[in-house]
Amino acid sequence: MSIRTVRFPVAKHQARRKGPCPVCGKTVNRTRVFESTQNPFNKDADGNPLDFMSVMLQARLKAELWEPDFTHSKCAEASL
Ligand SMILES: [Zn+2]
Repeated sequence: MSIRTVRFPVAKHQARRKGPCPVCGKTVNRTRVFESTQNPFNKDADGNPLDFMSVMLQARLKAELWEPDFTHSKCAEASL
């Protein structure tokens, strides 16, 4: 028995957001990296596997749709 590791290409897109903390009003910066993998299971609406360009767009779309929570973790605790 052999174990074969298949490495699929991964597209990454970093999103940055700046906004006020709803509790204390100070500006908060949030960054997050979104990933999309090109693999046989990642298909478009017609069932065709996505090419790498489409996978990059997919990662970017995820990043654009991201709505971060600007609440500081300390502020969230204090407001409970
Ligand atoms: Zn805060």
